[in-house]
Amino acid sequence: MQLHFEARFTSIYRLRIHLRPIITDTQPHDLEVKAIGWSTHPSEHLKPNQISFEDGETYIARKDIINIFTDGSKTEHGVGAAFCVLTNDIWAYQWSAKLNDNNTVFQAELTALHKAVIYASHLPNHNTSKIHVDNRASIMASSNSKSTNETARKIFKILLSNPRIKVSWVKAHAGNIGNERADQLAKDATQHGQPYSHTKLPKPRIKGLLRKSMLEEWQTSWKNGDTGRKIYNIMPSVSIRPTNWIREDVIFFSQHGPFPAYLKRFHLSDSDYCSCGGIGTALHYATECIYIVSWHMRKPAPNFEQEWLKRVANNLVSRQKIRGVIKFISENRDLFRPPWPSTSQRAELSSSITGHSPFK
Ligand SMILES: [Zn+2]
Repeated sequence: MQLHFEARFTSIYRLRIHLRPIITDTQPHDLEVKAIGWSTHPSEHLKPNQISFEDGETYIARKDIINIFTDGSKTEHGVGAAFCVLTNDIWAYQWSAKLNDNNTVFQAELTALHKAVIYASHLPNHNTSKIHVDNRASIMASSNSKSTNETARKIFKILLSNPRIKVSWVKAHAGNIGNERADQLAKDATQHGQPYSHTKLPKPRIKGLLRKSMLEEWQTSWKNGDTGRKIYNIMPSVSIRPTNWIREDVIFFSQHGPFPAYLKRFHLSDSDYCSCGGIGTALHYATECIYIVSWHMRKPAPNFEQEWLKRVANNLVSRQKIRGVIKFISENRDLFRPPWPSTSQRAELSSSITGHSPFK
């Protein structure tokens, strides 16, 4: 299932195939793609003093600098991005927006920084502006001319042609008034912000949609299917997480194994009796067969077998007992055969007498 799903995702993503509308209205052009190639000449770099990973707190006091603070936020309400501008101790401007719920907080950080550099690039030429960012990853991406992130590349280009715009890291949640304000604006925007849809959706978004739709499809066929009903009753929900079931578990819970009742049902034996005289069902061996006392569990009350099976399946100690039971039966099949010979035993018997055993 997992492999099948990965393959389907890869083909849809690479070939940019549209998904069926019942899955999503997200289209390939809504998704983020990796920026490739050189968007600027490789010899072009930002000025060494343009980017700083030192906390830029000290700049806030300087009157000749326009301080801009950016932040992105993701809460249970959504995703928000914001920046605010501090000039001469006055909040001169602010911007915030609500992104798509599927956008990541990193995308929100970059969107805020992108909007802030655009704002700064429109300021009169003599102004130096310092953008305070509390996220190192977005500073790194934006100062790298070959970043694969489209937004980061746009930021880089603006910074390259505007050396007066500087970007500086600021410690988050450290009482910096500008950073606190940007943080609050971004948080508010997750709930009440103006919708902003220019930030492409992250690639995992489509993965999530596909996973969801495939699980739904699988769940429906599992629920409405004819086979595997015994397992269905224990595990009604499908999942792409591994079940940690081993062979013995499957044999017991599917009840397809060396149990006389099963062998009889599929005409592999004449009798559904265990050699102890009871009916040889999986439950018989797990709870009452006199030959397997050491792994016994308490027998469920009539009509509670299903509950019992579910509980046993979800309990590791019980599962260990089940595994012991199945191993023991498998290794000692002769012990559990009914005392009178079955068809196959008769055949074996007669052919061994004539010396033409089909089993040798
Ligand atoms: Zn028995």
